[in-house]
Amino acid sequence: GRCVVAVDGPSGSGKSTVSRRLATQLAARYLDTGAMYRAVTWAVLRSGVDLTDPVAVTKVATEADLVIGTDPAGYPVSVDGVGVEAAIRGPEVTGAVSAVSAVPAVRALLVARQRDMIAAAGRIVVEGRDIGSVVAPDADLKVYLTASADARARRRSAEDASDVTATAADLARRDRLDSTRAADPLRQAPDAVELDTTELGIDEVVARLRELLNS
Ligand code: C5P
Repeated sequence: GRCVVAVDGPSGSGKSTVSRRLATQLAARYLDTGAMYRAVTWAVLRSGVDLTDPVAVTKVATEADLVIGTDPAGYPVSVDGVGVEAAIRGPEVTGAVSAVSAVPAVRALLVARQRDMIAAAGRIVVEGRDIGSVVAPDADLKVYLTASADARARRRSAEDASDVTATAADLARRDRLDSTRAADPLRQAPDAVELDTTELGIDEVVARLRELLNS
């Protein structure tokens, strides 16, 4: 039957790995909404429009043909037929994504797409920042993963082989940008279960989420 799990939290909280593993165990689809904001950001950078011009940014977002898969074992992401899986993880996109995702019309566009994909999938684990609060407030389970700043920076730099000090600084910058938006602050759903993953392994977190789903 239908089962929608919303997994929110900051980057490095473990939400991607946890969400993919949980989706596989539940035989559900998986949606990485951060990848959608990153793909739109890639399109905006390619177009050369001014990142601080919300009308121009929205036009690029509206016209880009964004396609994202929902298989937890591997999900292609393309913009206008160009595969962007690697490019959307690069420093240029990471540096610009907070600005692009702060544009309300971009959020409205992607939230509508996300809701359509959730409805089509039926069984799905969705990860992001605003899934429990905005995208799927009626989710069967909402979790908010946290971890110490230190643990988050260590995990992120292990993932992409970057310098841990630089990663810590970038995470702090994005946290600040993502949490001080005037238009649409990304808030934790009041009914989300908060789980601190600093001292937990991936499998422990996944097991805890399965317990919560069955309770
Ligand atoms: O999760 P990830 O680090 O890939 O997300 C990249 C960026 O996309 C975040 O820093 C945030 O600015 C934006 N984002 C968002 N809403 C979401 C998911 C991601 O604004 N649901």
